[in-house]
Amino acid sequence: MRLVTYRKGSSRPRVGAQVGEAVLDLAALAADLARERGAVRHGRGGVPKSLLELIQGGVEALALAREAFGHGEAILKRDGVNAVVERKLGVPAAKGRLEAPIPRPARNVFCLGRNYKEHAAERGAAAPEHPVYFTKAPETVVAPGARVIHHAATKELDYEVELAVVIGAAAKDIPREQALAHVFGYTVVNDVTARDLQKRHGQWFKGKSLDTCCPLGPVLVTADEIPDPQTLAITLRVNGETRQSSHTSRMIFPVDECIAVLSQGFTLLPGDVIATGTPEGVGAATGKLLKVGDKMEAEVEKIGVLANKVVAP
Ligand code: MN
Repeated sequence: MRLVTYRKGSSRPRVGAQVGEAVLDLAALAADLARERGAVRHGRGGVPKSLLELIQGGVEALALAREAFGHGEAILKRDGVNAVVERKLGVPAAKGRLEAPIPRPARNVFCLGRNYKEHAAERGAAAPEHPVYFTKAPETVVAPGARVIHHAATKELDYEVELAVVIGAAAKDIPREQALAHVFGYTVVNDVTARDLQKRHGQWFKGKSLDTCCPLGPVLVTADEIPDPQTLAITLRVNGETRQSSHTSRMIFPVDECIAVLSQGFTLLPGDVIATGTPEGVGAATGKLLKVGDKMEAEVEKIGVLANKVVAP
């Protein structure tokens, strides 16, 4: 499933699944199924009210979401998008305004630094022997299409396209060979970075955690649709010009190792987001840093395009 958090008009965010030109409303579909089965209470049909809670709901919540999705797919196939919309079981994709799949993660976004050899080299660093971790504050997360502020605090704003992993079940000391079984799904993150602050303050947190500097989305693709996360093309364009173009097979520490090492003596929780590092081509290396008005498009194969514009403070 291609799960989304979306709004219709000014409504509260809903949990949806994207299929072609439609966004299915999973709670409405689950309620519709419950009604068909004669249940007295249908409400949201048991579907949690946010994608984060759905992830935290474990296998049971996911099974319910899949059942609702199957119901929606059947209606789509039989009667088309209009029937879905008329029965208030979804919206045309163009009418659903996307939020980040997890608009506010429960804790910091975990990130890998220097996880592509060519990127480490362009930053004048050797390939690390062990994964390098840092974090971004959860409040930095913004939606697909949201504006990224070029804060007055920085003169060197930069982009970084990355594959983001969302953890499914709570666990620590995860063996590498079991690590991918702990992944709920995958999305795209743009690890927007203030290079001058990153340098000035030694520890990277400051330069990585300015407000709006973590676009996330557009969809959260469940892990069953990406059995091997090391098989994806990864690119970033600024105003249509390709600035980063690589492949997740080029990660120094593949996703399973990133998870296994991070989980050593540290409990990962459902809904945790891990940004797995960026390939070469960042502005700090090429001199093409971000300017007000720039349109960034971060793309990972099989997931989609995460587009955000840079605006003045
Ligand atoms: Mn990064």
